Amino acid sequence: MPKYVETIIVGGGQAGLAASYYLSQAERPHLILERSPHAAHAWRDQRWDSFTLVTPNWTVRMPGAEYDGPNPKGFLSREQVVEYLEQYVARFRLPVRYGVEVTSVRRRPNGYYLINTSAGTGSVANRENGESRACVPAGSYAAMPKIVWINWRCATGSPLANQRT
Ligand SMILES: Cc1cc2nc3c(=O)[nH]c(=O)nc-3n(C[C@H](O)[C@H](O)[C@H](O)COP(=O)(O)OP(=O)(O)OC[C@H]3O[C@@H](n4cnc5c(N)ncnc54)[C@H](O)[C@@H]3O)c2cc1C
Repeated sequence: MPKYVETIIVGGGQAGLAASYYLSQAERPHLILERSPHAAHAWRDQRWDSFTLVTPNWTVRMPGAEYDGPNPKGFLSREQVVEYLEQYVARFRLPVRYGVEVTSVRRRPNGYYLINTSAGTGSVANRENGESRACVPAGSYAAMPKIVWINWRCATGSPLANQRT
């Protein structure tokens, strides 16, 4: 676990992987911490063997990997969803550390966040604590008060500040 990472994403489900995709596209340093030992935990470990999506394949639209297979009106099986997400991580080289559980996130007076992680089965030395900086653009509260958008750009003074991430 590095001492400092600009952005830490807790959980490597679709939401975390999509956020990582955009951060990667923007070449921003970040890390996904996923407590399960492998990708696609929700689908691999929390669905029954004969599971298929209830949403048709054309709705499978992770950023950069929209479904383009031969059966857009079909329904991916559990194994196919797992494979799709595994390939997604590999294709975009998303920086996932498996077997690392985030146990607490605490904001510090200096505006940084202290991320506590537990030891896991991954190769990362995750008994150490890491610090991550985040910035919440002011406009996000007004637009949707219950959703906090975290955006590194406002900290860098980039002209892209305040755009949605
Ligand atoms: C039975 C069922 C059927 C469904 N069918 C469909 C469908 O057909 N089509 C569809 O679009 N959606 C479907 N869904 C919904 C879909 O599964 C969810 O919308 C989706 O998984 C949410 O993705 P997520 O990334 O937000 O969360 P998750 O997929 O739950 O991922 C969260 C990840 O975070 C990790 N995590 C959690 N806490 C920590 C922590 N403290 N530290 C480290 N890691 C952590 C977890 O291990 C997990 O891998 C279904 C859901 C269920 C329950």
